[in-house]
Amino acid sequence: MSLMKIIETAEKQHKLEKDEIVALLENSDCDQAITIAADRVRKQYVGDEVHLRGLIEFSNICRQNCFYCGLRAENGAVKRYRLETDEILELARKAKGYGYKTLVLQSGEDTSFTVQKLTDIISRIKKLDMAITLSIGEKSREEYCAYKEAGADRYLLRIETTDSQLYQKLHPHMSLENRKQCLYTLKELGYEVGTGCLVGLPGQTLESLADDILFFQELDTDMIGLGPFIPHQSTPLKNEVGGTFAMAIKVMAIVRLLLPDSNIPATTAMETLNSKGRLIALQSGANVVMPNVTEGDYRKMYELYPGKICVNDTPAHCRSCITGKISSIGRTVSQEYGFRKRKVTTNN
Ligand code: SAH
Ligand code: SF4
Repeated sequence: MSLMKIIETAEKQHKLEKDEIVALLENSDCDQAITIAADRVRKQYVGDEVHLRGLIEFSNICRQNCFYCGLRAENGAVKRYRLETDEILELARKAKGYGYKTLVLQSGEDTSFTVQKLTDIISRIKKLDMAITLSIGEKSREEYCAYKEAGADRYLLRIETTDSQLYQKLHPHMSLENRKQCLYTLKELGYEVGTGCLVGLPGQTLESLADDILFFQELDTDMIGLGPFIPHQSTPLKNEVGGTFAMAIKVMAIVRLLLPDSNIPATTAMETLNSKGRLIALQSGANVVMPNVTEGDYRKMYELYPGKICVNDTPAHCRSCITGKISSIGRTVSQEYGFRKRKVTTNN
């Protein structure tokens, strides 16, 4: 089948075989046609509204050692911090004041946030009438259950890569099976679930990227966040090349074609590689932006990868800057909570 025919099938039927996805990934002749088709599907299924999620990076302390990440436990060069409950609640109140309907609480795997502490934070934020997304890594079923009962609505846990050998290499003492199990458990508990992958990991093949995309579809996740892998100087992967902006955008666009009604963020990592990265992503299938509401020096210290954007900006600046950018491309900021609105039943 020609590449154009594959794109047409994806746009109409939202289904592709693995070899068809690989064909799209390995050839760049039709990249523009892919992003244009993804933009049409985005408009048709989720409309012109962009959902904003205020991101609070509440701790950069992590017990894990993911090879690519600047927050990995063995990185002694990072200054560590964790916010107090009151500081988190203060940021949440401010985020509410800026008009955000959803708060994303993200951190390293910091065990000092016990179930009791976190459920307290969640239930107090819920009183502000905001949707809550957690992005705090692998936890037990009991913990996920407690957070859900306390009021958490959504959970982000990227699979990172579905290639089991590569997963094993990059994640000491972790397993792909457990990561998958966490995602299934979160679904079962009634969370809106988000996953995603890193694009351009060393040793990652196009076949494995195609498998990642098919995994998102199989799991029928509500949100898919992906970005380029950006090498960090204080990690074992410091000398690797990293992912490209073009490939990250293409993978994202294919994801939009195959999961037409999902929520897909224009990620910050994309803007790190291209100064118009998030706007290009919004015009290539994305419909969500996650502006940072963390304040002061903490932004710099939450360094998953180098070159993170907006580290010196205030949350108020980020709010107005992103609204301006969204309007400049003829889109509007949603006033809703931004839950997934299902328009299709599963495709598999
Ligand atoms: N600890 C939690 C949440 C924080 S990490 C977790 O791991 O789920 C959030 C995301 O940052 C990860 O899922 C990973 O995909 C991304 N990330 C980490 N290091 C990165 C790097 N060097 N380049 C790009 N993204 C990175
Ligand atoms: Fe920790 Fe998440 Fe970074 Fe892994 S990706 S080291 S779990 S913060």
